Amino acid sequence: MAKKKKSKREYVWLECTECSQRNYRTEISVAEGTPKLELKKYCKTERKRTAHKIRRK
Ligand SMILES: [Zn+2]
Repeated sequence: MAKKKKSKREYVWLECTECSQRNYRTEISVAEGTPKLELKKYCKTERKRTAHKIRRK
């Protein structure tokens, strides 16, 4: 019997905190709750690195 791992995965958007543009799509594990971290990502709209936060659908 194969062990069935219960790991809920969800697709989320990484939204720029400065211009609210959704620049990246990523997959997170929601088993331990949604991580509330901000990531430094390159924003194509502003052409600079800004903080992006996870936005669930
Ligand atoms: Zn931006």
